[in-house]
Order: sequence, then structure tokens, then C-alpha cells
Amino acid sequence: MTAQILDGKALAKTMSRELAEQVAAFEQAHGWAPGIAVVQVGADPASSWYVKQINKSFTGVGMRFALHTLEADAQADALTGLIQQLNADPQTNGIIVQMPLPKHLPQSLVTDTLDPRKDVDGIHPINAGRLLQQSGDFYAPATPAGGMEILRRYGIDLKGKHAVMVGRSNIVGRPMALLMLHEHATVTICHSRTRDLQSITRQGDILVAAIGKAKMITADMIRPGAVVIDFGVNVVDDKLQGDVDTEAAMEVAGYITPVPGGTGPMTNVMLITNTLTAARRQVGE
Ligand code: NDP
Repeated sequence: MTAQILDGKALAKTMSRELAEQVAAFEQAHGWAPGIAVVQVGADPASSWYVKQINKSFTGVGMRFALHTLEADAQADALTGLIQQLNADPQTNGIIVQMPLPKHLPQSLVTDTLDPRKDVDGIHPINAGRLLQQSGDFYAPATPAGGMEILRRYGIDLKGKHAVMVGRSNIVGRPMALLMLHEHATVTICHSRTRDLQSITRQGDILVAAIGKAKMITADMIRPGAVVIDFGVNVVDDKLQGDVDTEAAMEVAGYITPVPGGTGPMTNVMLITNTLTAARRQVGE
């Protein structure tokens, strides 16, 4: 068997075109385009690279992008003051604070200050709680939202399926498990203390990896014909590798997201989607 590729890169392009049309319609109706503010403390190279990608993706669909930088030794009140200023700005519809923050600034400073209505990457406890309860307006974190969008657009129905999630972080594994549960999958969550991981992963009609360990999911851990979603981004010998051994998994799985070109390109598209949704909600649409 050779698995069908779930082409996140192509899907992200298609969605960007759709979003550009929706942004243009919003701008025509309101006289301004939705905008995101990115806050970066210090100048971590990986973070700077990611900020550039966000800029390109947002401006590419006609949205506004503003970068606000603080020195690496900035004090807590400078960060919270900036977030409050952005919370109050009616034309800043979404706010992202780049992680990781320097050690002297706890992440709780951000979650305690950020307006949940502008929290387009779903890190605020109000958004996380509403996702958990599946109630009210909320923003799901962009990465798992992108994985779900791939499943949806490829017509992969989760109802009644056994979905096995490996990883339970607040930004990927845990919200992905909840999103799959909301689509009526039977969900098992595995983590570093899970015993006999392989016996569980092999039960998955859908197997999702968000681990951060290159090629940890080997072909013998995959149920024949399973749908494999790989969120892993690991740099090995200057190359990107997923958490799944893609080449070997291709011979067993029914569908698979490649790395690169699978879940990665979808993250920014979902950030744009969430920011457009935030702008619409903020103008009462
Ligand atoms: P974290 O390090 O926060 O979480 C990793 C999870 O994997 C933890 O729950 C951990 O378990 C679990 N884990 C670690 N080792 C094992 C093991 N041997 N067996 C089973 N479970 C294990 O990572 P993130 O969730 O932030 O990221 C996961 C991956 O996704 C990374 O490669 C990251 O680069 C990538 N990523 C990709 C994005 C994208 O846009 N596609 C965006 C964000 C992240 P425990 O909880 O017990 O420690």
C-alpha cells in the first residue's frame, strides 16, 4: 500500500486564496482590513523567522500586520503595558505573543493580560475552557485547528473512529484530542508515561503525533490503512523531519501528512482564519 498524501501545502494555498476574497469583502464593508499584532521579546532567530512567515502570510491575503518588539531584558510592566495597549486598539483584531519568552517573564503574564477576544492562537484559559466545554465563542490553537481542517477538507469523517493522540501539550496534543472528540471520535491520549505505546497506536484509525522526537512513530506502530497526522517539526542534519518515519509509514498508512508540507503550512492559514473571525465578531457580524 502507498498512502495518499494529505497535502497541507496545497490546501494552505487554496485557503489563502479563499481568505483573500473574504478579507477584501470585509475591507469593502468596513473601510479597513483586519489586522494582527505580533509581540516579540528579544530576537530569538527561530522566532524571528516565524514572525517573518506570519507577516508574509497575513499581508499576502491583504490583512494588516504589525510587529511590536521589546528588548530581551524588558520588564514585566513593559510587556503587560504593551498588551493592554493592543487590547484597547480597535483595529488590532488578533494578538500573538511569541514564545518562548525570556526566563524572567512567565507566560502567565501574557495569559493574565491578553483579551481572550483577541487571543487568536487560543492560549487564554477562557478559550481553552470553552474548547473543553465546546460552548460559546472561542479560538482553538492554530496548529491543531490546521490538522482538523486537513481532515475536514479531505472528507475524513471522525465519527465513531478510534483516534489515538500521542502528546498532550496545551498548544497541540490536548486541544487536538478535544477537537477530535467534538467530531465524535473515540479518543485515547498517550504521553511519555504511557505503557506499551505501540499496542495503543496500532489501534488508531486516526493516529496523531505531536511529540517533538524525529521519526519516533515507526511503521510497526501504525494500523494498516490508518490516517496519520504528523505535527512534528524536528531539525535533523539541517533538514525538517516529522515525529513519524514518513517513508516507512507510507507503506502502511492509508493517508499521511508529509513533513515538510503537511500540517506546518496550515498553522498560519488557521491564524489568519481566526483573526478574520475575531475581526467579524468585534464588529458584531
Ligand atoms: P511538547 O514538548 O510540549 O509536548 C510533547 C508531548 O509528547 C508531551 O505530551 C510528552 O509527554 C509527549 N512525549 C514525549 N516523549 C514521548 C514518548 N517517548 N512517548 C510518548 N509521548 C511522548 O511539544 P509540542 O506539543 O509543543 O510540540 C510537539 C511537536 O509539534 C514538536 O515537534 C513541535 O516542533 C511541533 N509543533 C508543530 C507546529 C506546527 O505548526 N506544525 C506548531 C507547534 C509545535 P509528557 O506530557 O508526558 O511529557
